[in-house]
Amino acid sequence: MSRWLLTALLLLWPALTALAEPTSSRITGLRFGGGQSQTRIVIDSDKPLTFKTFSSQDGGERIVVDLPKVRWSLGGLTAESGRGDGEGLVQAYRYAHNSSTSSRLTFELKAPARLARSFALPPAGDDPHYRIVLDLRPIEPSALSAPVAAKSSPERASPVRAAPPAATPRPAIDPARRPLIVIDPGHGGRDPGAVSSSGLREKDVTLEIARLIKDELMASGRYRVALTRTRDEFIELETRVERARNLGADLFISLHADAGSNSSVRGASVYTLSAEGEKRAEEVRHRNDWILDVETDSSRPREVNDILADLVQRETKNQSSRFAQMLIPALSEAGWPALANTHRKRGFFVLLNPDVPAVLLEMGFMTHPADEAMLVSDARRARLAGGVLAAIDVFFSREAPLLAER
Ligand SMILES: [Zn+2]
Repeated sequence: MSRWLLTALLLLWPALTALAEPTSSRITGLRFGGGQSQTRIVIDSDKPLTFKTFSSQDGGERIVVDLPKVRWSLGGLTAESGRGDGEGLVQAYRYAHNSSTSSRLTFELKAPARLARSFALPPAGDDPHYRIVLDLRPIEPSALSAPVAAKSSPERASPVRAAPPAATPRPAIDPARRPLIVIDPGHGGRDPGAVSSSGLREKDVTLEIARLIKDELMASGRYRVALTRTRDEFIELETRVERARNLGADLFISLHADAGSNSSVRGASVYTLSAEGEKRAEEVRHRNDWILDVETDSSRPREVNDILADLVQRETKNQSSRFAQMLIPALSEAGWPALANTHRKRGFFVLLNPDVPAVLLEMGFMTHPADEAMLVSDARRARLAGGVLAAIDVFFSREAPLLAER
């Protein structure tokens, strides 16, 4: 080795070792959106971050985010610790290093709130930041297991029973934070949906099976459930979507059993929003002023808000697809026949909620005699409900790191 090269290496050595050491991420921004009914917190960083969230034991007065050791550069100021005012449900926040290897961000809440969702997003568009997004919703005891129609309805929430022995990994769910599943029985009232040759109406089948799925989910003790309709009434599609959104649904499942054009085709299929549908979602969002929380932050340029909204939608779409892909095998396993290519994408209106993962389950064809028999059989319906519960369990176990530490 030449002396020159050796000298060069020695000179470079400190730089090389510095490169080998991982440099910590920098938290560059902390933003709030929304209001008292729902608050979104966005944490910006220059590198992707793993994070853990938990809330104080005393009833959601504090939300804590634990991070690997980071550098705090909030408001253009780099500091070891600091604090600031919150917005919406957040009174104030504090940040500091928690240990030699970890950092902690604490949000003091104005009112008891739960972490409805949390997920990480990569940089997109012009925005170079990685983000952690946290959605807070107020804890309202009255919302637990309340049907959507608050009017007196014959349907009552089933008593919560102890969870059965676990066959699949069960998410550990704090009762106050049980995910809210909104089930949408298709059609109703003056809209019967498909009608079989024997006179069976889709609107009745969807409502009966929706109730059954609700009972199954409630009996697990792991979920809150609401139906978009609890009786034979006509409800606009737009209203169904709105109700799910207003309730703060974590998952939306629309039930249908339509007429098949080909009488030899039978079985269930699951739909998620198609690209066309997404465009429509965008239109609907603007038309109805369905404000994604990120949009309500007027202190940010509109382009940034749009990017955030787009990212939230993309994450929602991914979650919908993941649930669809879990639902199909779960139904098959429950002995419910499914079409070969069962995960399809279409622009169904009821799937248009921009920030609620949503699928449309076509349970079978009213026009196929075998499907019709299956759709009215108590035993088969019970299997279907079991299959839906199994898929939801898998979804919330896997999505747990994304949706929050429930
Ligand atoms: Zn239908």
